[in-house]
Amino acid sequence: MTGETLHVHFLGTAGAMPSTARNPPCIMIRRGSDTLLFDCGEGAQQQMMRAKTGFVVDAIFITHWHADHFLGIFGLLQTLSFMGRVEPLEIFGPRGCSDFIVSLNQIGPLRPRFPIEGRDLSAGDRVEFGGYHVEALPAQHNTPCLGYLLREDARPGRFDRERAIELGVPPGPLFGRLQRGECVRIARGDAWIEIRPQDVLGPERPGRAIVYSGDTRPFFTHYGPAALEPDLLIHDATFDDGEIERAREAFHSTAGEAGQAAAYLQAKMLTLVHISSRYTTTGTHTRDARKYFPGDVRTPQDLTMLEIHFRDR
Ligand SMILES: [Zn+2]
Ligand SMILES: [Zn+2]
Repeated sequence: MTGETLHVHFLGTAGAMPSTARNPPCIMIRRGSDTLLFDCGEGAQQQMMRAKTGFVVDAIFITHWHADHFLGIFGLLQTLSFMGRVEPLEIFGPRGCSDFIVSLNQIGPLRPRFPIEGRDLSAGDRVEFGGYHVEALPAQHNTPCLGYLLREDARPGRFDRERAIELGVPPGPLFGRLQRGECVRIARGDAWIEIRPQDVLGPERPGRAIVYSGDTRPFFTHYGPAALEPDLLIHDATFDDGEIERAREAFHSTAGEAGQAAAYLQAKMLTLVHISSRYTTTGTHTRDARKYFPGDVRTPQDLTMLEIHFRDR
């Protein structure tokens, strides 16, 4: 079972101030035919053009109401209206999201020609999609802020072909039914016996998971001991470790702190984002994170795309 494709497009990786190389925050996650935006910084729609992702967005998750994280919504809504969109668009975010949606629907010139839905989320709230969900996580910033966890449903265990044959199931369509979780009946001597999926399937296998930290002090300090084990952790690394005092004052993280968070959460890969415009190169960021996290560390440029694979492929 290969499952749906899972792609992450880094459309904006800048901190509060954009540069010519980095746009304000916007991460697009595309799973199968679903497209979710996490933050929608200014210029997001042009980044979508440059990345050739198209404009089919199903939902937008805003981490917090600092302008660098949501100003792109206005332009995107206008373009979607021009393109004749009729399907509703969902917008989720921390406290203030419902008021924001009401304003969008009330201010005439901004009002899109399609319904905007959505609601305020608090840490622990979930939004369900087909085959996965998005859960709000508690971030620690100088204004209410959420991180987000996208987690796929667990997949059925591996099919044990030898065991099925041993039990008398003939290779063929019955194998497929067992793999889909159905019971099958086979003749054994004069009797019919039932073979259950659990007789021939291994333990359930976890789906893939991605965590986006939003703007935050290092994620683990306030999350508690739960290991989220994300396949990808996208973490605030506004500063390198030389600026740790500034990071504390501004409620952001350094690259080394992001590395500690990745190690603590048992991530497979760490990507560093929200890079301050003071840095023209990011070698120090990557090095600082690697001091603490032995896994794959990257500081993606805008328009980088990563494909997330199952760990047990
Ligand atoms: Zn920010
Ligand atoms: Zn912020």
